[in-house]
Amino acid sequence: MTKMETGWNLDNSYTHLPESFFTRQSPTAVRSPKLIILNDPLAATLGLNVQVLQSKEGVAVLAGNQIPKGALPLAQAYAGHQFGNFTMLGDGRAVLLGEQITPLGARFDIQLKGSGRTPYSRRGDGRAALGPMLREYIISEAMHALDIATTRSLAVVTSGESVIRESEQPGAILTRVAASHLRVGTFQYISEWGTVEDLRSLADYTLQRHFPGADAAENPYLFLLQEVIKRQAALIAKWQLVGFIHGVMNTDNMALSGETIDYGPCAFMDAYDPGTVFSSIDMRGRYAYGNQPHIAGWNLARFAETLLPLLHANGEQAVKIAQDAISEFSDLYHYNWLAGMRAKLGLFNEELQDESLIEDLLNMMHKYRGDYTNTFRALTFDAPKDMELFGTTEFAQWHERWQARLGRQQEAKAASNQLMRNSNPGIIPRNHRVEAALEAAVQGDYSVMERLLAVLSTPYAHSPEQADYSTLPGPSAYPYRTFCGT
Ligand code: AMP
Ligand code: MG
Repeated sequence: MTKMETGWNLDNSYTHLPESFFTRQSPTAVRSPKLIILNDPLAATLGLNVQVLQSKEGVAVLAGNQIPKGALPLAQAYAGHQFGNFTMLGDGRAVLLGEQITPLGARFDIQLKGSGRTPYSRRGDGRAALGPMLREYIISEAMHALDIATTRSLAVVTSGESVIRESEQPGAILTRVAASHLRVGTFQYISEWGTVEDLRSLADYTLQRHFPGADAAENPYLFLLQEVIKRQAALIAKWQLVGFIHGVMNTDNMALSGETIDYGPCAFMDAYDPGTVFSSIDMRGRYAYGNQPHIAGWNLARFAETLLPLLHANGEQAVKIAQDAISEFSDLYHYNWLAGMRAKLGLFNEELQDESLIEDLLNMMHKYRGDYTNTFRALTFDAPKDMELFGTTEFAQWHERWQARLGRQQEAKAASNQLMRNSNPGIIPRNHRVEAALEAAVQGDYSVMERLLAVLSTPYAHSPEQADYSTLPGPSAYPYRTFCGT
């Protein structure tokens, strides 16, 4: 019998870019790898054999102890504005194994995160702890199920080694799958330290990889800027619509593909409050929920700056082109957000007053500390009980306005209700549930996490078994804090 193959089909297009863009770097082997979780459906999409991945040989690859056929491992160089300050970064604890070409011909980066030191590690140990890697796994998969563009998680393995954080923790490696790891920070790095020709090769590579159609554009680099802006406008609107707070929207954590990337101190908002911040290091609320669209615009302006030499030979003209493109972002974002909010309220057509109807609801939620997800869920199922907000005259008046508004569209009530069901998740990764799953996992019990992942995989199912997962944390869970760099 011939030996079964894992199905690795790796290409390495990134290695054809100028050498200064990366450093060849293999993962550092770990003591005793153990598979904790494997994403079977994702493996299948990638053309990988689940049985072989689970075997000793497969796990050795997921741990970085063995290099799969066709891989040319490397650490990518990049820079970034961290909380507004520009600095040199790069993959300090990750290596790109290569790009998996799927049976359908799609291309995905396969990256090991927590795989050991690289030339970009600075003072870091190059490693990751189990809790935070499982956290990235859970939340990225929840985002995917919510239909939000995101990097995916293929597997988490423990290393059999400890990492030292606030306490000693089990070490782990996450296999991350991404459309690419090209970031705003990649362009910042080349713009700061490379030549214009380097920049052009990076821009051409990005266009080829993510934005077909540039050939037909009059100015392909303007096309690149506009397309990146469009994708971010759509992405950030989706975050806002489900109450997702990224927590560390530094320019190195903004992917040009339009995928959500780098799940560190992220969390979902419970009670609606635009000022919500979870990250322990975000003292001034730079990355608060309500500030995310503004910060996305700021990051995109940094991206536009890097493109100036490509946008026009004349510096002033280039600035004008960049500014015009950037000024589109807030309208594009707003358009996406408003369309999504209309759907959340079951509205198919557009009326001028829709925005004030939406704002008034959000303001009431803010005033009465209404839970963001559960308020929309209660409106969807016409079950406004147990909630302070719903007992008020203010709400009664608003409800009347909303019902009258629904009555002014052609679609039947049932269609409108279906739209709401499909637009308002019943299930989000509630912070207390995620914490409980991680606590059990670090103790060696993965069942809590497995149940949570199953529930999170169908956020719009609204099935009775899920109801338990929509309950709020007790008062002791406040204020919730998340930690970075773990
Ligand atoms: P992040 O906050 O996860 O976006 O990381 C910011 C930068 O710090 C990136 O360049 C990471 O690769 C690097 N980094 C984070 N944790 C570690 C670590 N334990 N060892 C080395 N580099 C790290
Ligand atoms: Mg990062």
